[in-house]
Amino acid sequence: MTTKFEEMVFKAAMELWGIDKQGLVCAEELSEASASMSRYLNNKCDIEQVYEELSDAQIMIDQMKRYFGNEGFERWRKRKMDRLAQVPEISAKLR
Ligand SMILES: [Mg+2]
Repeated sequence: MTTKFEEMVFKAAMELWGIDKQGLVCAEELSEASASMSRYLNNKCDIEQVYEELSDAQIMIDQMKRYFGNEGFERWRKRKMDRLAQVPEISAKLR
């Protein structure tokens, strides 16, 4: 959930740089998040770097949700969560 202030910042950023630039930044931040998780699990960085890079990625995902429309993201999130809940070992814990 984004705050009113965050919405204003996202709007200003998209107006300044546009989807072509912000989409590339999103791709870069997702790669950095992936790399930080890998480095953390290989004991090559601390948890602060993971927090930082996952936060960057989350911010860019929030911007993409705002740009492309949240409905599609929510529809896919529900599908994916339903599928996750159907994994037998998880489903057993939900009863
Ligand atoms: Mg980053």
